[in-house]
Amino acid sequence: MGFAQGNFASTKLHTVNNTKVLIIGAGPVGLTLACELARRDIPFRIIERCAVAPQGSRAKALQPRSLEILNDLGIAEDLMKIGSTELPYRKFQGNKMIGETPRTGFPRNDTRYPKTLLIPQPEVEKALRIKLQELGGSIEWATTLTDFKQSNNGINCQLENDRQHEAMHCSYMVACDGGKSSTRKKLGIDFVGETHQEEQLWVGDVEVAGLERDAWYNWLSPVFGIAFALFPFRNSNIWQLQAVMPADQDGNIPAPTLEGFNQLFKERTQMEGVRLTNSSWQSIYRVNIRRAERYRAGNAFIAGDAGHVHSIAGGMGMNTGIQDACNLGWKLAAVINGHADDRLLNTYGEERIPIADWLLATTSQRQKVMLDGAKTGKSGFETLGTNDTTQLNLNYRGSSLSKTGQSTINGLEAGDRAPDVQLTDGSWLSDQLRGTEWKLLLPGEEKLTALTDLVKVINTSDEHIREAYGGGEAAILIRPDGYIALIAASVQEVTKYLKQLNGL
Ligand SMILES: Cc1cc2nc3c(=O)[nH]c(=O)nc-3n(C[C@H](O)[C@H](O)[C@H](O)COP(=O)(O)OP(=O)(O)OC[C@H]3O[C@@H](n4cnc5c(N)ncnc54)[C@H](O)[C@@H]3O)c2cc1C
Repeated sequence: MGFAQGNFASTKLHTVNNTKVLIIGAGPVGLTLACELARRDIPFRIIERCAVAPQGSRAKALQPRSLEILNDLGIAEDLMKIGSTELPYRKFQGNKMIGETPRTGFPRNDTRYPKTLLIPQPEVEKALRIKLQELGGSIEWATTLTDFKQSNNGINCQLENDRQHEAMHCSYMVACDGGKSSTRKKLGIDFVGETHQEEQLWVGDVEVAGLERDAWYNWLSPVFGIAFALFPFRNSNIWQLQAVMPADQDGNIPAPTLEGFNQLFKERTQMEGVRLTNSSWQSIYRVNIRRAERYRAGNAFIAGDAGHVHSIAGGMGMNTGIQDACNLGWKLAAVINGHADDRLLNTYGEERIPIADWLLATTSQRQKVMLDGAKTGKSGFETLGTNDTTQLNLNYRGSSLSKTGQSTINGLEAGDRAPDVQLTDGSWLSDQLRGTEWKLLLPGEEKLTALTDLVKVINTSDEHIREAYGGGEAAILIRPDGYIALIAASVQEVTKYLKQLNGL
């Protein structure tokens, strides 16, 4: 395997030419992509501007679809042990508790992860870093992409760390460098949308003396909707704090401090005997609703927050980014390995941009419903977790890769996520679906003749698979990222589909 080259050791300019993919940014999205490439033996490098991983809690909701992806990478079960799934929303007006809304559960039997996992983002990143290391990859810390130029045969990049400059060449580059992505700007890709100066929050991590760690505390207000919120993490002393801050006429809010947190808490909650201490992170969060106008420019791609930013209501930003990386990873590998035509890479934007548009619209809507509800002292919290926010229902039905053929089964169509199902022996279909290959659910013993080493055949004799997949008579081809590519009446149709991938 030709993985990361390690940190720079000397001040000499050197050039590394065998890198197929340069990943910019080691947040959750860059890390997921790195794992996807590492497990397919693709030579890549992943660089990160920061010298160490950030510790602020940031994303705290890991959605069921992301858990399925992380299960495929083999890390979801470890995360389940440190997060929680049952934390009610406890509501106050001033120092008076006015009620409690339980977290909504979604009784579905087509996933082993029906509930949102509440866990701080650094834990997700840590698990991905450990997985990446197991797969032989490593992050180049304190290393920044400073410039690049595309040519006919790839991209020439300039990297910098505090000791040296480096020129390197890669075939593809993926900007996972966050909402302020300098790579996106240099690519000339517009970030279309708006900034809501009037919606700014203080966010931070604190310890809290005087409150039980058994609920997500929210202080409702007719002015702010939610005037103050405190969210405890399991297996940790930390609580995430959020408080709406009115901006001055220039659109600025004061810098957050622990003293400021305590003062605001007192003003807005009138709670006695509660003290915020040991703040390990303080930041300002501004609501931006924006989407990159395209996800590809030449051989460069955009993923995660670099492609979409929006309200945090519903907890889906990091999740959508992880799902971007999962969509792009297998496609880059297939093209680099010569198993698919370069045009496969155009389906990344074709499939993921409609999801980003849905995301921007739905999170704005949820934010409004929640805040309007909170302003009137009613709930509104139900809108934060719905069947949609599980992201299990998102699909690629409209994609050029989805070939319905003659069949739909049990309402399933090509482009849908392949449902998981618990088998008669108690194991899950996802145990068999795990891995980098395509999967073919087949009722009989027929043989495939195209790209057979890339396709794992799974027999559908188990009655629970037959029920979930409509009697088990069709041949169902599942993509490496877990979405149905084709529902076919014969293996010949599957062969034809796979052969066409090379010429799409
Ligand atoms: C308070 C808060 C709560 C949130 N809650 C949720 C939630 O519940 N659920 C959810 O899904 N999301 C949530 N989010 C959003 C989530 O944090 C982001 O969507 C997520 O971090 C995006 O991941 P990313 O990898 O795309 O970008 P980032 O996490 O921003 O990572 C980008 C990385 O690229 C690096 N970088 C930038 N430029 C360069 C360069 N030129 N060279 C090298 N490296 C570079 C940066 O240092 C950074 O480490 C929340 C965010 C906040 C602030």
